[in-house]
Amino acid sequence: MSINIENYKKIKSELEAKKVQLIAVSKLKPASDIEALYNIGQRDFGENYVQELVEKYEALKHLSINWHFIGHLQSNKVKFIAPFIQLIQSVDSLKLLQEINKQATKHNRIIDCLLQVYIAKEETKYGLDESEIQNIFNEVEKGNLKNISIKGFMAMASFVDDESIVREEFQQLVAINSNHKIQDSKLSFGMSQDYKLAIEEGSNIVRIGSLLFGARK
Ligand SMILES: *Cc1c(COP(=O)(O)O)cnc(C)c1O
Repeated sequence: MSINIENYKKIKSELEAKKVQLIAVSKLKPASDIEALYNIGQRDFGENYVQELVEKYEALKHLSINWHFIGHLQSNKVKFIAPFIQLIQSVDSLKLLQEINKQATKHNRIIDCLLQVYIAKEETKYGLDESEIQNIFNEVEKGNLKNISIKGFMAMASFVDDESIVREEFQQLVAINSNHKIQDSKLSFGMSQDYKLAIEEGSNIVRIGSLLFGARK
């Protein structure tokens, strides 16, 4: 077992005091590590790859895990996770949202989603800009997306040491959120290296992997 129980307990108590939700990011880690963390109380897990998530879902069906999808999601793979996914945090196009709506309808579900916002200045990151976000809300208002529910926003900051850059990026997300009137909006930002900053800037969901499961290969 390679999970870091000490870090888990420390982070949990920090987050509980601030009412921030913890998503344990288990990508590339074995199902046995997930089960070990589950056994000390964790329920929400985040995965980045569809095939890996489906395999873990099948292997861990006996547990009541809330699965979050946090990676780049291809439209043609939505069908594999639609039956069970709790929250798709990484919606980065209207086309993807339409496919999630279609698959959710098939399964007679309403699937909760977060819109992934492009805040980092790194070309490699996915995410929506303000006009794309507005466009999505316009579509929702038309009543065309009845089987999805947009609960808030998600983002990844630049991977840099300069705190002021990261803070500024987080503030961009908070500003975008305040332009849209989502009730009790979920704001998912902050990872192992920047979750403390993120909470200071108003995050209410953090996604932490390596501090809990150790470094990834
Ligand atoms: C991998 C990943 C995380 C967790 O990263 P750590 O640095 O290991 O905490 C969080 N969010 C997303 C979208 C990820 O891909």
